[in-house]
Amino acid sequence: MFLDPEAPIATCIRPSCENCALASRLHCHFNDKDLGAFLASVMPAFILGGIGLYRFGVWPFGLWVAFSLSYFGLIEIRVMCSHCPHYAEEGNSLKCWANYGSPKPWRYRPGPMSRAETVIFLAGLAFIFGYPAAVFLWTSQWLWAALEIVFVIAFFARTEAGMCNRCMNFNCPLNRVDQATRLAFLKQNPLLEEARKREA
Ligand code: SF4
Ligand code: SF4
Repeated sequence: MFLDPEAPIATCIRPSCENCALASRLHCHFNDKDLGAFLASVMPAFILGGIGLYRFGVWPFGLWVAFSLSYFGLIEIRVMCSHCPHYAEEGNSLKCWANYGSPKPWRYRPGPMSRAETVIFLAGLAFIFGYPAAVFLWTSQWLWAALEIVFVIAFFARTEAGMCNRCMNFNCPLNRVDQATRLAFLKQNPLLEEARKREA
C-alpha cells in the first residue's frame, strides 16, 4: 500500500535509509497514519462546506464537487505533484499522504514549477477552500461561515506546521522546509539539484 520505509526513494542515491539524518527531518516515506491524519484535518472543512453548499443548491454543490475532483485528481497533479520526488516512484498512482490514489498520467518533472503552474495551483486551492465560506457569507449564514473559516484555517495551520515543514517537494510554494535540510536532501538527490540549476 505504501513504499518500503527501509528503502530509499527513487531519486535518492544513498544505498539505505538506515542512519540517514534526514529521515527524522523529512517525510520521504508515508504510512496509513499520515494519510489518516491528513484526512482527519481536511475533512471537517470539506464536510461542512459540502453540506452547506448542498442546502444552498444542487448546482453550486455539484460545481464545487466536480472542480474539487478534477483539481485533486488531475490539475494539481500536473501543476504541482509532477514536480515532487514522490512522483518519480514506480506505479500509475500516487501513494502519499495527501493525494493518495491520484493517477500519474504525466512524466516526472523534477524542475521548479512555472509561474503559470504556481498561479493555477494557488487559485485552485483558493476556490475549493474559499467558495463554501463565500457562499455562506453571501447568504448571511454567519454561523456556517464562521465554522467553515475556522475549519479551513485549522486545516492550513495544521498542514503547514506538521506536513509542509517536512515535505520533500521543495518546488511547492507552500513548502516550509529549512534551507539546511533542503541542501542536505538535494546533495543526496542530485537529479533534483541538476534540474533546479538547469531550469533556474
Ligand atoms: S533522504 Fe534518502 S536515505 Fe534519507 S530517508 Fe530519505 S530516502 Fe531515505
Ligand atoms: S506534492 Fe504532496 S501530494 Fe503531491 S505527490 Fe508530493 S507528497 Fe504527494
